[in-house]
Amino acid sequence: MSRLFNYINPISHLGDRKYSVIIPFVFTLASIIASEYFAFNIAKDPLIVGLYVIYTPLAYIVYFAFRFGIRGGLIVSLLTIIYYFYILYSRNFSGEQIQSGLQATLLFGSVFLVLGFLIGWLKQTVDVLIIQEADEKRRLQAVFHQLPIGAILADSAGTVTQVNKKVFEIFGKKIPLGTKVGKDTFVEYKENDKFVVPNQTPLYLAIHSGKSLVDKEYTIKRPDGKIRYIQVNSSAIYNKNKKTIAAVSIINDVTAQKELEERKDDFVNMASHELKTPLTSMKLYIDGLGIRLKDFKDDKTHKTLMGVKQQVIRLSDLVNNLLDVSRLQTGKLSLNKESFRLDLLISDAAEELAQVGPEIVFKAKTKTLVFADKFRLHQVLTNLISNAIKYTPSGDVITINLKKEDGKAVVSVKDKGIGIPSEQQKKIFDRLYQVTDPNTKTYPGLGMGLYISREIIKRHKGKIWVDSTPGLGSTFYFTVPLVKTGN
Ligand code: ADP
Repeated sequence: MSRLFNYINPISHLGDRKYSVIIPFVFTLASIIASEYFAFNIAKDPLIVGLYVIYTPLAYIVYFAFRFGIRGGLIVSLLTIIYYFYILYSRNFSGEQIQSGLQATLLFGSVFLVLGFLIGWLKQTVDVLIIQEADEKRRLQAVFHQLPIGAILADSAGTVTQVNKKVFEIFGKKIPLGTKVGKDTFVEYKENDKFVVPNQTPLYLAIHSGKSLVDKEYTIKRPDGKIRYIQVNSSAIYNKNKKTIAAVSIINDVTAQKELEERKDDFVNMASHELKTPLTSMKLYIDGLGIRLKDFKDDKTHKTLMGVKQQVIRLSDLVNNLLDVSRLQTGKLSLNKESFRLDLLISDAAEELAQVGPEIVFKAKTKTLVFADKFRLHQVLTNLISNAIKYTPSGDVITINLKKEDGKAVVSVKDKGIGIPSEQQKKIFDRLYQVTDPNTKTYPGLGMGLYISREIIKRHKGKIWVDSTPGLGSTFYFTVPLVKTGN
């Protein structure tokens, strides 16, 4: 029954382009025959044909044009016009009656033809539009399913409406369409080793609080026990009136990159350890050789040896930096905190570096007691001062300042060097970031110093930042907590 209704209902055939001529032809012909049968056999009055021969074809034209397009509309119209002629010439009308009959046929005939054509044309245009939209949808679907990243779509009510194949590959589990977002995470979902509850998943947050997440990292445990690292981007989709209509979550499996990174870190860690031992021995040998050469009073050889020592020290600093970076990556950099005078530490560091570089002025030598890791703060100071020297090709003076503020010591290292463009100022504290092109070799380095410094200061609950104008110079600041006695 419902199939029959479906077949009759013209709306359910919008978008299907099967335009039959036979069905409208047969139905119209049957209706004409019925009308003639009625006039001749039931009413027994051939002249009884009345308004119904106008309304019935009109209804047929509207229906068949809407159901079968232009052909449907035109075939009914043409048959009706022929029927009108047949009536006119089969009923013994008078000349005048035929005259007005012909006029009526002409009028109604043209109205029928135009109506049949227009409705049919409208139906065919709608069909084309529907097909185009369906094709577009199919194309999008194909792209959606072929995406090399996982994608989950949910509607505004929080029901999963689309899930592509990649999600299954990543999760190792199917997410059924129609699932309520926030009911289940489907797999063990963790962020920084803490479980993510279903109503904290990226898709849930996007739907219910409009919150967008960018490159958020999670680990998942698949049903087969495998751990995967995923990176998720999610956001709500709004309509013109800024109302949430859907939300999407894009999931990228970054397990391979993570494993490669871990292997790289392991390698750097191992290589640095291996390099450290021979370097320490080399330093000792050079010192020994230096003592022996002193007796020969050979200035040139002694100078060469000191050059070698300088380079070995540089190399071992680099290796130490590499080790620190890898310790930071693996969370193994620990601090040995003690109370000491920061002003004295700054003086020492400045003095050491002044021997090899330009003038270094440290004015504010007030006693400043801090609670921190002395060795690590010395490392930060050395890094900032040697950067100031390195990036001041003119050899201009470097000024260091120290003041106390809100229970913190604030240290600044100011140079009149090349400066740093404002858009780069935040990035220079990132791992391996360098503003100057490392390939030009104008300023040698690996971009590890400021990253290590930032991490050390962070672990002291302090802050590190820069204030700089390209061409005029830079001032680096950092803070560390003062010892609580109020010194
Ligand atoms: P690098 O080994 O390259 O010096 P750092 O981490 O110490 O690495 O510094 C990162 C980048 O920040 C440097 O490559 C440089 O471009 C910029 N930079 C650091 N200190 C200064 C400074 N005092 N003046 C100008 N640029 C600086």
